[in-house]
Amino acid sequence: MIMMYTLNQMLFALFCLFFFNISFTQNEKDQEKNPIIVIDPGHGGKDPGAMTAQGIKEKDIVLAIAFKMIVLNDTLFENSLRLFLTRYTDTLIALRDRTLLAKTLKADIFISIHCNQAINTTAAGTDVFIYPKSEAQASASTYLGLTIQKGLADILGVKKRGLKYGNFQVLRDNDSNASILLELGFLSQSDEAIYLSNEESQSAIALVILQSIIKFLGL
Ligand SMILES: [Zn+2]
Repeated sequence: MIMMYTLNQMLFALFCLFFFNISFTQNEKDQEKNPIIVIDPGHGGKDPGAMTAQGIKEKDIVLAIAFKMIVLNDTLFENSLRLFLTRYTDTLIALRDRTLLAKTLKADIFISIHCNQAINTTAAGTDVFIYPKSEAQASASTYLGLTIQKGLADILGVKKRGLKYGNFQVLRDNDSNASILLELGFLSQSDEAIYLSNEESQSAIALVILQSIIKFLGL
């Protein structure tokens, strides 16, 4: 796959890009004002979500990507985003509690991350779902979702399947300015299963999502 050959080069380029743009002077007090982002790794515990032919589970892949976002936010972006996860372990969290966290924190952005699967094993690519309550939430969610999707396509070569309305509880109950559910690819498609299970690819995905959030917020 094209994305596998270019991954290291792209990560290096992104690293250089941010190295020259990051301010290293931010103190802890400033960080209290930083935007709050809730990342919701889908499924967990007794709910594995989708699964690759080799038995690698969606719940583990999305949690790994979320953890990589935390690490990269710290190492590359001086914690310019305040990231919270709806789960930090392999546990099943009720859908209402995932949105409750975003509400309680008054999160600016809520992103639920998932991997897809289909009976048709050739189905591939990323989907962005929104379920806006207002025009402002619709435009913010659309912009953020499309920025991430474009980043994954342009930088990592992942096919785009577009933006859709998805009546998901985690979106329906959500008051965050931008609220999206991402399907990062299909575990039923052999190339994407390998790619999504690979730690380097997971870091690249995490970096693209962070980079898109920062672009969206104009930081
Ligand atoms: Zn899922």
